[in-house]
Amino acid sequence: MYALCDVSAMYASCEKVFDPSIRKKPVVVLTNNDGCICATCPVARKMGIGKSFVPYFTVKNELAAAGAVVRSSNYELYADLSQRLMDTCARFAPDHHVYSIDECFLYFGSYVPDIGWEAHARDIRRTVWKEVRLPIGVGIGPTPTLAKAANHASKRIAGFNGVAVIDNEAVRRRVLKQMSVRDIWGIGRRLARRLNEMGIESAWQLAQSKPALMRKHFSILVESTVHELNGIPKLSWDDVRAPKQQIYSTRSFGARVTDKSVLRQALLSHVGIAASKLRRQQGLASTLQVFASNSPHDGEPFYRKSFTYQFLTPTSDTTVIAHAVSGLVDGLYKSGVHFYKCGVGLIEIVDASQYQADLFSTSNDNPSLMQCMDSINARYGRNTVHIAGQGITPQYAMKRAFLSPQYTTRFEGLPKIRCC
Ligand SMILES: [Mg+2]
Repeated sequence: MYALCDVSAMYASCEKVFDPSIRKKPVVVLTNNDGCICATCPVARKMGIGKSFVPYFTVKNELAAAGAVVRSSNYELYADLSQRLMDTCARFAPDHHVYSIDECFLYFGSYVPDIGWEAHARDIRRTVWKEVRLPIGVGIGPTPTLAKAANHASKRIAGFNGVAVIDNEAVRRRVLKQMSVRDIWGIGRRLARRLNEMGIESAWQLAQSKPALMRKHFSILVESTVHELNGIPKLSWDDVRAPKQQIYSTRSFGARVTDKSVLRQALLSHVGIAASKLRRQQGLASTLQVFASNSPHDGEPFYRKSFTYQFLTPTSDTTVIAHAVSGLVDGLYKSGVHFYKCGVGLIEIVDASQYQADLFSTSNDNPSLMQCMDSINARYGRNTVHIAGQGITPQYAMKRAFLSPQYTTRFEGLPKIRCC
């Protein structure tokens, strides 16, 4: 089974953590330079104020009249609370994947909690509230897509109250029937419109459609989604794009890492992945987050460290981001810790085409070099060219303790025959 834990109105909720006096008030958070509204708490939403992406000055008076609390975005706080959230959630399952600043997947494998799924989900929710003071929805299901759907139900469908478990046919049907295709993981607005034209309005209708037909009309991704909605796992975390506002690249190590240079290499390879995704969506990142931790299941004292870094000028250049990350490795590393996981998050992403340059800080980006790198990698495969810092033969790669020799592609793997 999979679980998806997702914070409700993350940024606005973070603002309420250390200021209980505003917990019941409408809170809106503004983007950088206080330009637009980027997050609205449920109280404000219920009052119908503070729509996202509206320029602040146009609704300034309306917000003041409603007694709304207005805050500038505080990414350092959000990133740190995000880490605390992830740490708490990670304790509840054997495997854990950070999906975005406020969402993580838990993967249970064959593990089944003694107290049952529903009670386990409530436990996660209660513990996060107790330890981090963030309100989350928990959705559990047999595939990542159904866990996402359950999470949607936990927040949006009456009767679930923050927790939904899709572990039988009746609940699956009930949730999917009340969910529009647009709300399914990986189905964007454009795809939803085309599905609507074919008469597919609800998630249930998509689940009932023929997978092969969906593949013919759309893509292998939509075909996989149909299988997933029917309880057959098909997608991996990387198959479906994370929300555009942040890009995370994170992985657990094959074997525990204790060497600083190996940790650095791993972080820089995450920079390579995240930065190329950023360029693909024509974005620039203003804030960077790096983190590393040991495993909460290893029996040693839990260690986790994270840093945020603010770029003077938003960037999408791998070398610029790598340089910043390199400077943070010393602070992340602690000798004696068996590192289990590390990652890089590009948060606070702006659109490159709409970005207004700063008169006083010039960009160090080298777009033509990056374009050259991206086109070589697009043609010859990922990592054909990369920055040297990420290492030639990654020592942190997946665990393959039982790997047979590469008989046909490596000299050291050539079979030896001895004639005596
Ligand atoms: Mg959320």
